[in-house]
Amino acid sequence: MKSVVVLGSTGSIGTQTLEVIACAPERFRVAALAAHSNDVLLEEQIRQYRPEIAVLVDPDAADRLARRYRGRTVLLSGEEGLLAAAAYANADIVLSAIVGFAGLRAALAALAAGKDLALANKETLVAAGQIVTALAREKQCRILPVDSEHSAILQCLQGEKRSQVKKIILTASGGPFRGFTSDRLRSVTLEECLQHPNWRMGRKITVDSATLVNKGLEVIEARWLFDIDYHQIDVLVHPQSIIHSMVEFDDGAVIAQLGLPDMRIPIQYALTYPDRIASPAPRLSFNDISALTFEVPDHQTFLGLPLAYAAGKTGGTLPCVYNAANEVAVNAFLSGKIGFLDIYHVIETTMGRHQVALQPDLEALVTADAWARETAARYIDAC
Ligand code: NAD
Ligand code: MG
Repeated sequence: MKSVVVLGSTGSIGTQTLEVIACAPERFRVAALAAHSNDVLLEEQIRQYRPEIAVLVDPDAADRLARRYRGRTVLLSGEEGLLAAAAYANADIVLSAIVGFAGLRAALAALAAGKDLALANKETLVAAGQIVTALAREKQCRILPVDSEHSAILQCLQGEKRSQVKKIILTASGGPFRGFTSDRLRSVTLEECLQHPNWRMGRKITVDSATLVNKGLEVIEARWLFDIDYHQIDVLVHPQSIIHSMVEFDDGAVIAQLGLPDMRIPIQYALTYPDRIASPAPRLSFNDISALTFEVPDHQTFLGLPLAYAAGKTGGTLPCVYNAANEVAVNAFLSGKIGFLDIYHVIETTMGRHQVALQPDLEALVTADAWARETAARYIDAC
């Protein structure tokens, strides 16, 4: 029986993680749940999964829940509560589905406590890949990807020698604006942006998928998860999202992982690795697929990708700044303050103004993140 902590349990990945757990009660139990402010959903989850602790980071939401809740689960609040859940002694594995840089300290707390980390929260690896992977090595913990592309790569690498990998090919759906010119992108609306063709996800990653910043974040995520150079990571647009990613080896053989686009498969693999068990996800039927197609991404229009490669190759604090500027820009876009293409201007300008520190410790990353947020916000206000 594996005891699982789910951080970000009320979100898209968090709720799907709990579905996976509910389908295999003989294998998993929930030790702790944590979320930001959705007290109503967290309370339902507490009743269904009976964790030992449950956390709401937002103090007002935590107060609301504490006033009406009368069960056995211990309720905690704030960042302290989140870190206590991440490092909870009775847990075997921590699945982090928090969105953004806000997940970094919890990921580090889980690893410091010797827990395996099933990671959906890619921003953590983007901002602090060096620190997070070094801590995992020191503590001999696994970082198991939940992101579908990285789960695919992990599956393609089973039984293979890492030294014989020629390159990793990350697939991208291309998002709702695939094939659009910059002119057309200038006038796209938030509603259009939130209609992803293949996946239902949280709002931030849905916007990131449209800008291809999500793929940029995934390139940096792959660099750290698989300890591979940027020149060995390619991105290929594959609109059907059936091939989740591929690995090319020295002999020219390419291994791919396929499946319907359903996050419950990679979530479950991260929890059962290296085993496989029956899944609630629908099955791929080759009779229903007429074609699998591929395109080179448009780096001139979708700047999210080249900016990520630039940030990653420079390294140091720059990927952290790329991520922070994007988080601020996406929030501004979601609240109608800026247009779609402005997201790129915010990231590019903030990166351009940054003085990179090459070997940052955690404190330097936290400072760089705060600096980038302030710089991006000032740029947006001046727009
Ligand atoms: P979401 O917005 O649906 O959920 C986010 C969760 O994080 C919520 O439970 C929220 O309460 C919690 N949260 C937010 N801020 C927090 C904070 N400061 N402290 C603690 N908890 C906080 O997002 P999502 O779509 O589930 O994505 C979560 C992560 O998984 C992101 O990093 C995303 O890039 C990644 N991811 C998502 C998908 C997907 O299909 N949704 C696929 C691959 C990777
Ligand atoms: Mg992905």
